[in-house]
Amino acid sequence: MEGKFFRTECGSTGDRMTDQQIQCFRRHLEKQLTESMIMFGLVSRSLTQTLRACSDEPAGESFNEDIDQLLELADKERNMVGKIHQAMNRIDLGKYGICISCKRQICLRHLEVFPTAIFCSECRQFIEQNRDN
Ligand SMILES: [Zn+2]
Repeated sequence: MEGKFFRTECGSTGDRMTDQQIQCFRRHLEKQLTESMIMFGLVSRSLTQTLRACSDEPAGESFNEDIDQLLELADKERNMVGKIHQAMNRIDLGKYGICISCKRQICLRHLEVFPTAIFCSECRQFIEQNRDN
């Protein structure tokens, strides 16, 4: 079931997704959610272990680096879980895959790679360009 469910070309007709396509994305999101939760659990456990080890030994430079890295990872996974919940919520509301800015259909190829995307490629480019300036 991996990979190419969709044959729609990028930016073709702007048609809304079929229910079947949306169900595919939902399954994909559910899988990603499970992975992120597992990852978050692993990171949390490592963090606890690292902190416990610290109470036995004086904290050194590498210890702080470990903690920073783990915190960063935990943050990333937590963000991901939030984004996935948001995407699932948008499925429930019937708004999944619609750009929140211009309300057009987001390219399905982009959604395949970034199923939590909320902007179409044009709006995303616009935001990125203006962020740089
Ligand atoms: Zn847009």
